[in-house]
Amino acid sequence: MTVTVLAATAAGRRLATDIADHLGGEVGRGDLRGDLALAWHHDRAVVLVMATGAAVRLIAPHLADKRTDPGVVVVDDAGTFAVALAGGHEGGANELAGRVAGFLGATPVVTTASERRGLPSLSSLGAAFGARVEGDVAAVGGALVSGERVHLLRELPAPLGPLPGEVVVVDARAQVPDDAPLIWVTDRVVDRGGPTVLVRPPSIVVGVGSSRGVAAAEVGGLVDRVLAEAGLSPLAVAHVATVDLKADEEGILAAAEERGWRVVTLPAEALAGTAVPNPSDVVRAAVGTPSVSEASARHLGGELLVEKTRTAMATVAIARRPVRGHLALVSLGPGDPGLVPPMARRALHAAEVVVGYGPYVDQAAAFTRRGVVLERYPLGDEVVRAERSLDLARQGRAVALVGSGDVGVYAMASPTLAIAGDDVEVTVIPGVTAALAASALLGAPFGHDHCSISLSDLLTPWEHIRARVEAAAVGDLAVAFYNPRSRGRDWQLDEAVAILRAHRPDDTPVGIVRDAYRPDQQVTITTLGELDVSRVQMTTVVLVGTSQSRVRHGRIVTPRGYREVPA
Ligand code: SAH
Repeated sequence: MTVTVLAATAAGRRLATDIADHLGGEVGRGDLRGDLALAWHHDRAVVLVMATGAAVRLIAPHLADKRTDPGVVVVDDAGTFAVALAGGHEGGANELAGRVAGFLGATPVVTTASERRGLPSLSSLGAAFGARVEGDVAAVGGALVSGERVHLLRELPAPLGPLPGEVVVVDARAQVPDDAPLIWVTDRVVDRGGPTVLVRPPSIVVGVGSSRGVAAAEVGGLVDRVLAEAGLSPLAVAHVATVDLKADEEGILAAAEERGWRVVTLPAEALAGTAVPNPSDVVRAAVGTPSVSEASARHLGGELLVEKTRTAMATVAIARRPVRGHLALVSLGPGDPGLVPPMARRALHAAEVVVGYGPYVDQAAAFTRRGVVLERYPLGDEVVRAERSLDLARQGRAVALVGSGDVGVYAMASPTLAIAGDDVEVTVIPGVTAALAASALLGAPFGHDHCSISLSDLLTPWEHIRARVEAAAVGDLAVAFYNPRSRGRDWQLDEAVAILRAHRPDDTPVGIVRDAYRPDQQVTITTLGELDVSRVQMTTVVLVGTSQSRVRHGRIVTPRGYREVPA
């Protein structure tokens, strides 16, 4: 989003410059009315540094339709408030007000109804998962805001994001009174009496083939006609697919671009292996696959809805790919909210269900939205959590399975992916591990080669663990010991330390970090010779330096190899 920042006074202009610099936007040239007209014409969001009255008078002649007007944010001269004045949802003003307020340390003022009640904005329902929305957004949104019963019909199992309790899920159209407000997840063109919001998941793949030099109008006209005859919404088109050879076919590229569709090109060999109803030897001789349009449409395992249809120079086929729920494996970092990655926050914001060990779900809840379902589990039970998350995703839900540190490190990602099929979309969101968090608190113990070893012999036989510790000792690697000690396991750390002491000096620095970035955090620096294992418990990592590591001003430093750390 490009932003224009305008100010009415000299004091305001300084603030405007700062805001524009921060947003990567531009300031006006000094002619308020002209600058605003230009920004509006180019569909740029505007930040107006002035009183709301002045702002309202300035934009009034331009206001047309909330679906097309750009976002307008007003900031007072003192930079105390950032008000989303118009274009809150579609124009992005609500979000922009939040960003500007964050930068200025101001209070964001957002007054659109759905934000006020923590309700989802219907126009962005499912947007995090590629869905698009059309229909009576105002009427159904109004019904939601006034607490009326709104039905949801998920004809396709597409993830949407959290829905408030006011939404009643139904399995069939017959369960919804004709005049009742309805949110309908479908890629078909449908018609009903009552107010209806149509959510279009990216389910349709348009396969296209053509002769060299085909006109965009011929491709576009054919695609539009085929979609219309099949009763499918163009908003549900995920992308246009064709063979590699057509990657530079102007007519196909232009027709797709006019409609806002991406073009995906596929190797002929891959297409040749896809079963199609209408293969052609002529096509095989020319491009190396007996089918372009049908095979391209089907390449994501889609069901062919419309077989090859042609004009003089173009062919089109349509497939529906399986619409799948979404499982995000979300890393929460060691504990502090500041170390929860923005991607994790976004996944939690979009989640319909959060699954995980109780305390992690509590931590994740800070980033979820109203309507989310939180499922807390006791320690252990990893497979139960994994299966439950996959089940929910298979039902078409947006699921976040959370873990501390990095979800892929001694955590939920591996048992989950070991049993996951390709019937759900999976995203893994990385995070700051306990080892990296501890390393930062200690200084730079991992400045050179290092490894992590878990001392838990619950799932790994001790002789394997011992062999890895020996290898780390011989390799002079810095080591992070995870799961170093618990009530039932109290001798493993001693044995691991003894192995390391045989290979590196007794004064090798050791860091003991308990509850890194949590309220009870404790950081201790000691040496291999003096390590007191009684300081170590469950939520601790122990970091052992290499033979080259030194302690400098209370910090462990491992040189990168090209220079000694001065004593
Ligand atoms: N996925 C996590 C590790 C889970 S295994 C990660 O990437 O960090 C659990 C072990 O991690 C604990 O026994 C402890 O050794 C370590 N651990 C997890 N969080 C910690 C923290 N905040 N401070 C210190 N150690 C921690």
